[in-house]
Amino acid sequence: MAIWNLGSINADMIYALPHMPTAGETLAATGLEQYLGGKGANMSVAAARAGSHVCHLGAVGPEGAWAVTRLLEYGVDTRHIAQLDVPTGHAIIAVDPTGENQIILFPGANREISADQVGAALSAASAGDILVMQNETNMQAEAARVGRDLGLKVAYVAAPFDAAAVQAVLPYLDYLFLNEVEAEQLRDATGKTPEALGVADVIVTLGAKGARHYDTTAGTTHDVAAHSVVPVDTTGAGDTFTGYVLSGLDRGLPMAQALAQANRAAALMVTRKGTADVIPDLKEVQDASF
Ligand code: ATP
Repeated sequence: MAIWNLGSINADMIYALPHMPTAGETLAATGLEQYLGGKGANMSVAAARAGSHVCHLGAVGPEGAWAVTRLLEYGVDTRHIAQLDVPTGHAIIAVDPTGENQIILFPGANREISADQVGAALSAASAGDILVMQNETNMQAEAARVGRDLGLKVAYVAAPFDAAAVQAVLPYLDYLFLNEVEAEQLRDATGKTPEALGVADVIVTLGAKGARHYDTTAGTTHDVAAHSVVPVDTTGAGDTFTGYVLSGLDRGLPMAQALAQANRAAALMVTRKGTADVIPDLKEVQDASF
């Protein structure tokens, strides 16, 4: 089986600054680090490191070949990533000495994916494969509809939150992932609790409190307590969690075991600084001492 991930690919460019710039100020950075980022790329790396065959469906610009190479090195199938004539999506992240940050996000190629590209990629998918999307690309509702028609299991991560985007994909979903804030925003937008959304499995992550799974077919909820760790950097914890849940399901684990493995992977992730480059593999997750 395979996981098809319609997902963003970003260059995260982190500039170290002596202080945050004020309006009109020109300020020299004291350092620059560039990492692979984007919720989509992070999820692909997580699911691949967990042991799944992951086909990333996305786009980069003319200068984005390095990001594709990095994904390939992390075990992701990159044959369905287009190279377009628009800049690669990127985040310009300014960090001051106290750790405070300011972020400018440019979606670029992530929002220029064509219907033809989606259709061509998914025509290679098999019934029972998993399709996952988040909200950092275009084409989510179209892909969800095609995925459902082809008999794929369709998953959606409602981040960054956009009420209209979530509602457009809801009719096609088998799995919905929300964090605590997004779950509240969706309740405000729809007036519905997670049980009433019409999605078979809804998973709400709760940061240091763990996660809750709503099995709406059985009418049950299942809580997963977070592992006790000293957090260093929570960036990418949610993406790692989602990638591991979907990989667990793809590898045939029951939901409860997939959630337990994802909870371990995400706990390990928050003890590490960085995103895609430091997502743990399955052996590290299994060997973790908690
Ligand atoms: P992000 O956007 O930072 O990636 P998120 O808001 O999507 O995160 P969270 O709910 O913060 O997602 O966290 C996802 C999962 O990571 C949690 O369900 C939990 O398993 C794990 N996690 C997060 N924070 C902690 C923590 N402090 N200690 C242990 N586990 C954590």
